[in-house]
Amino acid sequence: MTRDYYEVLGVPRDAQDGQIKKAFRRLARELHPDQNQGDPETEERFKELAQAYEVLSDPDKRRTYDTYGHEGLRGAGAGPGAANGFGSMSDIFSAFFGGGFESAFGGGGRGGPTAGADAAVGVEIDLAEAATGITVDVSFEADARCETCNGNAARPGTPIVTCERCGGAGQVQSVARTPFGQMVRATVCDVCEGAGRVPQEPCDTCDGRGMVRETRTLAVDIPAGIEDGQRIRLSGRAHAGSPAAPAGDLYVIVQVRADERFLREGDNLVTVVDVPAPLAALGTTLDVPTLDGGVATAIAPGTQPGEILTLSGQGMPRLRGGRRGDLQVVVNVTIPRHLDRDQRELLERFAETLHDGNRGTEDGMLAKLRRLVTRA
Ligand SMILES: [Zn+2]
Ligand SMILES: [Zn+2]
Repeated sequence: MTRDYYEVLGVPRDAQDGQIKKAFRRLARELHPDQNQGDPETEERFKELAQAYEVLSDPDKRRTYDTYGHEGLRGAGAGPGAANGFGSMSDIFSAFFGGGFESAFGGGGRGGPTAGADAAVGVEIDLAEAATGITVDVSFEADARCETCNGNAARPGTPIVTCERCGGAGQVQSVARTPFGQMVRATVCDVCEGAGRVPQEPCDTCDGRGMVRETRTLAVDIPAGIEDGQRIRLSGRAHAGSPAAPAGDLYVIVQVRADERFLREGDNLVTVVDVPAPLAALGTTLDVPTLDGGVATAIAPGTQPGEILTLSGQGMPRLRGGRRGDLQVVVNVTIPRHLDRDQRELLERFAETLHDGNRGTEDGMLAKLRRLVTRA
């Protein structure tokens, strides 16, 4: 289980940037791998700390985390198990200690094609739309391969040469002075950014990035039966990667707006209807709301407060198909207030006619209680 990032850093949820930075520095010194050689538990805690700091120090990621929690970040390519691995953690590490995170743990360098980063986007739909399924347009910004240079970052027709700084290795050895003494580290080459090759003349369209930022709109099919907070993964629809690598995944996080008429309990829906006491005694037909509109429903004579009628198949569909859930209709027997004189006389005459045979119900105490105790 992933721990709460605020808890990991030991800061309150409204902590300022400076407070977060300070907490990270202090804990990072305690947990630094050079201080605790080879202790796997400390190493895990350090990774957890770096992850927490990576998110909380970035205003965008922090907002996503505050709104969607770890789930949202998994989509954004920042959470645990994200495709970009320690890429950005390495940057944090360098910022604090002047070296690479991976090399500190004896990991390999970057090098090779890098897959594009994932992205996340939220959509909000109604409960009725969740019941039928719906196609929604989502817009998001993503890096796309530059069409002018086809992603190789060079002005068309100009050569791409081996990086002089790293000799094509994509990495350079550096001696870094850190709070823990001198360390030799392999760091990603700052000239070619790990590619080993650099364009002689950068492409004008993308300024030598090989990518351009664009706004994309996609029609996303949201399946019937989706639940609040579930996410849909669209493989390869997010940021472009380096030329030979796949694009990142887009995660669509679906929020289902609450419907004030219904409570959702798994596949079932629950609603409440008011039935005036005289009608509950006599029996009546009521218009009960369902997701498909009102349905005339018989209320049997003598219906008691809290009794539940089940409208079979009027609940939510199951995400993977199969039988639809039910609509449970809770009968709220209402006692009329503000009686006028005629009503009062009628009820007084009626009350005088009550006898032991119909004054109460013959149900036991527990059965009555079960009906009356609400589920909300
Ligand atoms: Zn270009
Ligand atoms: Zn280089």
